[in-house]
Amino acid sequence: MNALSVDLGATNIRVALGDKEGNILRKITERININNGSKGIANQIIRIINSLHVDYNRIKGIGIGSLGPLDIKRGIILIAPNLPFNNIPIRDPIETAFKVPIHFLNDCSAAVLGEKMFGLGDGIDNLAYVTISSGIGCGAYVNGKLITGKDGNAAEMGHTYIDLSGALECGCGKKGHWEAYCSGNNIPNYVKF
Ligand SMILES: [Zn+2]
Repeated sequence: MNALSVDLGATNIRVALGDKEGNILRKITERININNGSKGIANQIIRIINSLHVDYNRIKGIGIGSLGPLDIKRGIILIAPNLPFNNIPIRDPIETAFKVPIHFLNDCSAAVLGEKMFGLGDGIDNLAYVTISSGIGCGAYVNGKLITGKDGNAAEMGHTYIDLSGALECGCGKKGHWEAYCSGNNIPNYVKF
């Protein structure tokens, strides 16, 4: 059996077909299209998956690692600091389109899970993964368990206060967050400041 994975970032959507050993069999990257509103994102993912022409009888499920913060119970992106809209429906439209199990996670939780399964985290019970890209994210294993928290955002480290004076505003609308100073999108603001 194989599985599909979707990496949904603020800049690109990457879709890959992989096997259970972690080999990537096929892969497509597209720039995210923000011109069709919040529902257009799931439709773009569906179109990319369709273009891979996979045999759905051999697909165990689709894993989606998404920018966040998320509401994993509702399957939506709650706030997308680096996109022009919030409350973006992701899980349900994709589940309806392909009728296979969908696993929807914060992108950094998915990344740390990948490292645990196939990478540097093999045999390690306490593990953190920090990414600095458009935003800043983190995923963590503690005592061998993936930490998600009630909404899936337990390790959202980019939205931690590092400057109580709140000089710079984060994409999430709050001030003084680490991401407002040190993410790929915001380092230029910090340099100007
Ligand atoms: Zn923030």
